[in-house]
Amino acid sequence: MSDNEHTYLLEVDRVSQSYGTEKVLRDISFEMDRGDVTVLVGPSGSGKSTMLRCVNRLTEIDSGNIYLDGERITGPDVDVNELRKEVGMVFQDFNLFAHLTARQNIMLGPRRVLGLDKEEAGKRADEHLEMVGLTPQADSYPGELSGGQQQRVGIARALAMEPKLMLFDEPTSALDPELIGEVLEVMRDLADRGMTMLVVTHEMSFAREVASEMLFLDGGKIVERGPPEQLFDRPEEDRTASFLRRIT
Ligand code: ADP
Ligand code: MG
Repeated sequence: MSDNEHTYLLEVDRVSQSYGTEKVLRDISFEMDRGDVTVLVGPSGSGKSTMLRCVNRLTEIDSGNIYLDGERITGPDVDVNELRKEVGMVFQDFNLFAHLTARQNIMLGPRRVLGLDKEEAGKRADEHLEMVGLTPQADSYPGELSGGQQQRVGIARALAMEPKLMLFDEPTSALDPELIGEVLEVMRDLADRGMTMLVVTHEMSFAREVASEMLFLDGGKIVERGPPEQLFDRPEEDRTASFLRRIT
């Protein structure tokens, strides 16, 4: 049911969501073109994680629509497993399998979900290990890797599914400060390669340099959206200015 009206890679159209009686997302709309890096910022509890989770259907919305590459991905008739092949997600706390090596962690999705054979999946894992600079650590277990290396494996694992869109939920928040840079560098490289990325982060220098657009969310509403220069240097809303002053 491709719909020619919906030509964006991602289109979030008047989405609202609540947990019980608590309204979390209120009438959120935004769009992303192919290759866009959209950075979502806002105070704790403003609904950032919930917004990402709605895009891969870990959380169900109450109203509105979400379209991925022209297809509606909300509604009861959507194959959620198919959707999750197309949307990669990177979490704050890596979520790697401790009993599998880096290479095996990356092979798992291509093997189990895409049905690739061992050789094909291994080849894909090696390509993505190289991309995140971890070829020498291919056979290491997560417990033998630093947090920054583990998160790079997490990114490689998501990329090995060859998704159309990557979601990042505070990918560097659990890391010691000296390990943040290597993860941001991989993300910057990915952006340069044209990956479409929706990123929740408090790393404002990354946002300023890499974002094509920023969304400032507060109380489940988009208070302001625009290029990083606008939000940082000439915000239109007082709330944007005071939030960004606090965290930069
Ligand atoms: P953020 O990522 O911006 O910190 P979240 O999307 O995690 O915000 O949370 C937004 C609001 O939704 C918060 O008030 C939070 O307590 C609530 N919330 C998040 N997840 C759940 C859940 N699984 N059940 C109930 N309430 C939740
Ligand atoms: Mg969150």
